[in-house]
Amino acid sequence: MQILVVEDERRMAELLEKTLQEEGHQVIVARDGREGFEIARNSPFDVIVLDLMLPGMDGFSIARKLRACRNQTPVLMLTARDAPADIVRGLDAGADDYLTKPFSIEILLARLRAVSRRGAIPRPVNLEVADLKLDPASRRVTRAGKELSLTPREYRLLELLMRNAGRAVGRDKILESVWGFASEVNENTLEVFMRLLRGKVDQREPKLIQTVRGFGYMLRDPAAD
Ligand code: CA
Repeated sequence: MQILVVEDERRMAELLEKTLQEEGHQVIVARDGREGFEIARNSPFDVIVLDLMLPGMDGFSIARKLRACRNQTPVLMLTARDAPADIVRGLDAGADDYLTKPFSIEILLARLRAVSRRGAIPRPVNLEVADLKLDPASRRVTRAGKELSLTPREYRLLELLMRNAGRAVGRDKILESVWGFASEVNENTLEVFMRLLRGKVDQREPKLIQTVRGFGYMLRDPAAD
């Protein structure tokens, strides 16, 4: 396999390079995040072994940017920090699996084999309603193949509605999920945001976002009934 190792720590980088070469793989090592991203973007690899804490650009950003530019090379992330939040963040950013340092070489090799076969952990599932598509890994939203430019809040609002497609979502739940408890927003603010979101999402037929009077909103494909 062609393997890219992005790891700034010299001893770890050398150990990985030596071990993987001994297993018969071709290995390229980048010690800087930005350099690693450029190499990953411009050359084909079977697997990328990606450290998270890196100079130049961190591993989360590298994974996210690669997925955003449609690079689907399997990524095995390495982290010294086994905090669940980091792992979730890494997987959401598009990594396929992770390994917590220190790890044994046997486990590394086994994980690499699994990841290169598109292993056990599925990438975040794309959400799709009619011709509206949302990719949680790259946060890319398209309607009829045309990319929509959403603000982070509009994105959260749309993701919430899409995850509940076909079900009415109450205003209270939207305010709580998108703005949080402590915010000053009221229902008028929500209506304004919803109008903006509709202006982007529902420029074409069929209209997908519906008002559920006295309750909230629902996103559904009218043709799905
Ligand atoms: Ca590091």
